[in-house]
Amino acid sequence: MLNKIISEANIQKAKKLINKCDKIVIVTHVSPDGDAVGSSLALYHFFIEIGKWANVVVPNDYPGFLKWMPGAKNIIIGNWKESLTAEIIDSADLLFCVDFNTLNRIEQLESLVVQSKAKKVMIDHHPCPENFCDVTISHPEISSTSELIFRFICRMGMFEYLNKRCAESIFTGMMTDTGAFTYNSNSPAIYYIISELINKGINKDAIYSKVYNNNTENRTRLQGYAINEKMKIFKEYKTSLITLSQEELKRYQWKKGDTEGFANIPLTIENIGFSAFIREDDNDDIRLSFRSKNKFPANEFASTFFNGGGHLNAAGGEFKGKLEDAVALFEEVLPKFIQQYSELI
Ligand code: 5GP
Ligand code: MN
Repeated sequence: MLNKIISEANIQKAKKLINKCDKIVIVTHVSPDGDAVGSSLALYHFFIEIGKWANVVVPNDYPGFLKWMPGAKNIIIGNWKESLTAEIIDSADLLFCVDFNTLNRIEQLESLVVQSKAKKVMIDHHPCPENFCDVTISHPEISSTSELIFRFICRMGMFEYLNKRCAESIFTGMMTDTGAFTYNSNSPAIYYIISELINKGINKDAIYSKVYNNNTENRTRLQGYAINEKMKIFKEYKTSLITLSQEELKRYQWKKGDTEGFANIPLTIENIGFSAFIREDDNDDIRLSFRSKNKFPANEFASTFFNGGGHLNAAGGEFKGKLEDAVALFEEVLPKFIQQYSELI
C-alpha cells in the first residue's frame, strides 16, 4: 500500500471538477521533457478511459525519443497550430496544468490559460507554486509529476481505469525524471508503483530502450565532441562547464533532445559536484542547464543569475545575449556562489 501524500481535500475537489466537466485540456511546460509528456499523456489516457473528451497541448515540440509514446500523435503543438490551440484551450471547461507551477513556463500559452474560464487543477513537483489554480496539488518531495499522476488516480479510487497506455506514460516520466532511477529515486514507493505498472502490462526494459538506446550517430558523436573538446573543469570549484555554439550544433545536425543528458555527464567525474551546460539556440538566445550533487542548490544558481529555476539538483535558465557573455557571467558569479555554499559541494 502507498502512503497518502495528496490531501483528501484536494482529491475530493479535483474529483468533483472531473465529474461535472465535459472537456478537459492538459497543458505542460515549454520544451517538454519525459515527465512533462509522460504525466500529460498519462492523464489523457485516463480521461479517455473514463469516457471524457480530452486533449494535450504543449507550447512547442518535444524530443524525438518521446515520439513513440502512446497518444503522442494526438498532442497539439502550440507554436505549430496556433489557432487550433487557442480554440481548444478556449473550449475547455477543465484545465490540468502538469509539471510546471509558474505561468511563465508555458510561454505563449500563458495568456490563453489566464483568459480561460475553465476551472484549473495543478499537479506538479517543483518548489514554490504560483497561485493560479482552483486546486493546487504540489509535492516537491516527489521525484516526478508522473508518480503524482499514479497517486492521484489511485486516490480517486479509479485504479481500474489506469490502462496499459497510461501505465507506459507514467513509467516514462518516472524514469526520465530520475535518470533511469539513479537519483531522487530511493523511495520504496517508486518500486511499489513500478511493480503495479508492470502488472498493468508495461515492458519496462523495452521503454528504457526506446528512450535511451535510440540516438542518431550524429548525436552520439556530438556527445563525444562535447566531452572531449568542450568540457572545461574548474577544479578548485568542483565545477564543470560544457558550451556548444550554433555552428557546432549544426555541424552535428542537432535536433531537439539531442543534448538532453549532456549536463549530467560531468557529474560522473570524481570530485565534480556542479555541472553547467550552455547551448546557443539562436543568436542572443542561450539555454543553460545545471546539475549538482547532494545539497548544492542548482535551482538557486539558475534563479539568481539566469532567470530560471527547477529542482535542487537539476535546474535550467536562459540568457539573452551572446554565448561568450553568458560564459563570462557564469565564470564571474561561480566563485562567490561556490564560496557561499562551499560546505554543500
Ligand atoms: P533542463 O536542464 O533539463 O532543461 O531542466 C532541468 C529542470 O529545470 C527541469 O525540472 C525544468 O523544469 C527546470 N527548468 C529548466 N529551465 C527552466 C527555466 O527556465 N525556468 C524554471 N523555473 N525552471 C526551469
Ligand atoms: Mn518533472
